[in-house]
This record gives sequence, structure tokens and C-alpha cells, in this order.
Amino acid sequence: MSDDTARPDAPEEYRSRSSSSSGESASREPGSHCVVLGASIGGLFAARVLSDTFDRVTLIDRDTLPETDENRRGVPQGRHAHAILPAGTKWLQEMFPGLLEDFEASGVPVVREPTEMHFAPGGHLLSQEGRYADPIPTYQPSRPQLEGQVRCRLRELPNVEVIDRSEATGLISASDGRRVIGARVVHRDNGAQRDLAADLVVDATGRGGRTTRWLADLGYDQPQEDRVAVDIKYVSRNLRVAPGSLGRRKVVIVGACPGRPTGATFLQHGEDHWMLTLIGYGGHHPPTDPSGFLDFAKPIVPPDVFEALCAAEPLDDPIAHRYPASVRRRYERLERFPDGLLVFGDAICSFNPVYGQGMSAAALQAGALKDALAEGGDQLPRRFFKAAARRIEVAWQMAVGSDLALPEVAGPRPLPVRLSNAFFGRLMSAAEHDSALTQEFVKVSSLLAPPTILLKPATIGRVVLGNLRRRGKAEARQQM
Ligand SMILES: Cc1cc2nc3c(=O)[nH]c(=O)nc-3n(C[C@H](O)[C@H](O)[C@H](O)COP(=O)(O)OP(=O)(O)OC[C@H]3O[C@@H](n4cnc5c(N)ncnc54)[C@H](O)[C@@H]3O)c2cc1C
Repeated sequence: MSDDTARPDAPEEYRSRSSSSSGESASREPGSHCVVLGASIGGLFAARVLSDTFDRVTLIDRDTLPETDENRRGVPQGRHAHAILPAGTKWLQEMFPGLLEDFEASGVPVVREPTEMHFAPGGHLLSQEGRYADPIPTYQPSRPQLEGQVRCRLRELPNVEVIDRSEATGLISASDGRRVIGARVVHRDNGAQRDLAADLVVDATGRGGRTTRWLADLGYDQPQEDRVAVDIKYVSRNLRVAPGSLGRRKVVIVGACPGRPTGATFLQHGEDHWMLTLIGYGGHHPPTDPSGFLDFAKPIVPPDVFEALCAAEPLDDPIAHRYPASVRRRYERLERFPDGLLVFGDAICSFNPVYGQGMSAAALQAGALKDALAEGGDQLPRRFFKAAARRIEVAWQMAVGSDLALPEVAGPRPLPVRLSNAFFGRLMSAAEHDSALTQEFVKVSSLLAPPTILLKPATIGRVVLGNLRRRGKAEARQQM
């Protein structure tokens, strides 16, 4: 049995090492080992933070992980538009110094000015005037490029090992079931089973989230699930677009709105390389045949963008992805949870992807993990789940609130949701002609600032004034 191998009734020396490793220090404990299951964005972000605390971190994924920036089977969403919000970008800058500069040097487009972004959420094209007061750059690597570059940097860390083609099939617990002491993995090539001893196991296996079942096997309750059924279909295609045909714009995002539960994201990835993703809620799904796909875009995107789409050279066939529901697992509400185990990323919360929050939410969870580890290992799961729940709360409320603003999405709409949707509707109306309001709104939707900044008296004043002006203009037009 190798040093890596855990047994359900682990020897005394293992148990005492694992309980002491749950001790008070945030610095690396000699011999401590963490196993992260899932090496996608969630697992990679968690592993980066854990590498500062654990002597060794082993990342496990069932896929073959490519050496270059390629799509892969376990991340089918990588073939669709993926934007990392400024909150996620800020975290990347902190944890992987130089990564963003390398992206830019390799030709990844960076949005720095309002004129470069056509952003029309909820039927309102937000102001493209002025300059950003706090520069909030948005980097636009493709999803495989982002994941590939982060994975590459993690592989360079001397205490991180990435093992692919290995499927996590279960947890190993101490004989009293109160602590997880390892994970069982099966190699895909030869079916060989290996038990990895660990002081901490992190489940980052995505929205399928294995932990719910594993908890039941260990005699624990499963977390309560909050769910909003959205029945969204994505259809995407890569295109070659003549440089300059979209003016200064590097990204075009048109969100769904009441009466038109469809949207589009058109993202520049290279000088002439763009990805078009079309989305539709239940009953309004985009088709995958090339001409139907183009027709679907026509009423959504601005006319000049449609012209550019018609003239563009397709680089592949349209490809589809279904997303049934946003799911949030309330681990922070469980009364009992084994030590030595955490859940991370989409396995905690999978957001409706149209708001582009998932990877940035994983970055926010990584911040929560860093803080929780800094306070030592005592009651780590309870402290981490509570901190992570607090950090992703705004993202969840914004995504659910925006979905419920669409009459096409079923679900209860309590008074606070109706009030906040009414306020956001008016704010976005006013922001069409108010660059300062647009910037405040973008800070909140980028998860850089809490929504309370929108309740400052000066901001509310601008919202009221903007709507009065708008109404005045509409009445004047009617009288003409
Ligand atoms: C269509 C779509 C579009 C999206 N667009 C955006 C966007 O624009 N911006 C954004 O921020 N987010 C977006 N997201 C969300 C984003 O992709 C996720 O939030 C992000 O990938 C983090 O997820 P994760 O690492 O927790 O899980 P995943 O990305 O799902 O990865 C899970 C990993 O676990 C591995 N795995 C699964 N089971 C096992 C097992 N038993 N053993 C070993 N390995 C296993 C898989 O191979 C995979 O590598 C989108 C999602 C979808 C579906």
C-alpha cells in the first residue's frame, strides 16, 4: 500500500496526522495532502488556493486533459460563449500574476471602453458614452484557452499534481464515518482502482455533484436544493468576420426581455475570429440548421451586426447545449457534515449561464476558501460553506431575479422580487442615456460591487430623473 493509499480503518498515525492537519495554521503543513476531484475551472481555482496551505495537492479528472487550449468532453459548455466577469478577472490577476498580460500579448481582445461593448440586458441598450471611471477590463479568451492556461500554470507549481483519465467513484471515511480520509479513483485505461489518502477532499465535479449521493452513503442528510427551471437551449458557431465590420465593438450581448425570451452573445476572440451564441428559453429554442440559426439572430441583434453575420465565413457547424435549471445546493444549512470534505464550484451552485457568472462565482468561492483556510482547519466545512454562500448570494439573487422578470419563466414572485425587478427595469431605462448609471449597473452585474450601491440617493435621483425625461420625450413624440 503506497503512502497515497487510505483505508476505511486508517492506522492511528494517519488519523492523528489528519486531525492535526485540521489544526490552526494557515501555512503549509509538512506531509499534508489535499485531493481535488474535477480539474475544470472550479477544481483549478480551488487547487490554486489549496496549494498555499497543503504540502501536496492532487487534481483528478476523468477526461483526457489536453496539453493545449482545446475543448474536451467533460466541459461541453466550452464550445459556447464564455465571458469571465471583472470580479473573476480581478481574482485571476491576484492568483496568477502575468496571466492577463500573457492573454493580451497573445491577441486576446480586451474591452476597456464603453464603445467596445454593446450591452443590452432586459431590452435596454445601455449607454456607450464616456469612459470607465474605474477601468474594469474584460478579457475575452475562449473558454478552453482560459482553462488551458490556468491548468498550465497550476502544473508548474511544484506541489500540484494533475492526474487525468481517472474517475472519482467514492469517498473513503474513517470508521466512525465522521471524517473523510480519502477518495477512490478508477483509472479509465485499465480499470485499476486506487485509494488516495487525503487530509481534505474537495468535490469540484460540476453540477452533477457526486457528493449528494456520497453523503447519503455515509449516512448524512442531503442538502436542500433551490431550483429555477429555465429550460434554456444554447446554439453556437465560430465565424470569421471581416476586421472593422463591427466598428469598435468587441462584444455584443443582447439579453432576453419580456415578450422575447431569446438572446445573443457575439464575442470577439481574435482579430477576425468571433463566436456567436444564440439562446432561447423554453418554447423559443434556437435551431441548429445554419439558415434557421441565422434567421433566429435577425430580430435579436442590431441590423449592422446582422449584416456582419450574413457576410461572415462560418468556421464550424452550429452546436447545441441544453440547460434545464439553475440549481443551488444549500450545504451551509446542513447540521451535520463530515470533516475532511468540501464541495466547490458548480457542485454548490450552477447559475443560469446567460448571465456569465459561473466562473466568477468559482473565483468568489476561492476567496471564501482562502479566508476559511487562514482561520485554520477547525470546522472548515461549516465555515467555508457559510462564507461561500454569502459570497455567491448576490449573483444567485440577480440571476434568479432576472429570470423571474420574464413572464415565460415559471416560479413564485414574492414582493421583494417584484419590487427589485421594477427598480432594475427603471434603472436600465435611465441607464440607456446615462453613462454614470450604466457604470454603476455594470459594476454590480460584474459582481464587483454590491447592489446596495444602486440605492444611494444620488443614484435613485438619476433613475427618477432619467425616467421622467424619457416619459416627457415619449409624450412630446405622441403630440407631434
Ligand atoms: C452553456 C454554458 C455556458 C456558460 N457560460 C458561462 C460564461 O459565459 N461565464 C461563466 O463564468 N460561466 C459560464 N458557464 C458556467 C461555467 O462553465 C462553470 O461555472 C465553470 O465551468 C465552473 O464549473 P466547475 O469546474 O465547478 O464544473 P465543470 O466545469 O462542470 O467541471 C467539472 C469537471 O469535473 C470532471 N468530472 C466530473 N465527474 C467526475 C468524476 N466522477 N471523476 C473525475 N472527474 C470528474 C469533469 O470532467 C470536469 O472537468 C456556462 C455554463 C454553461 C453550461
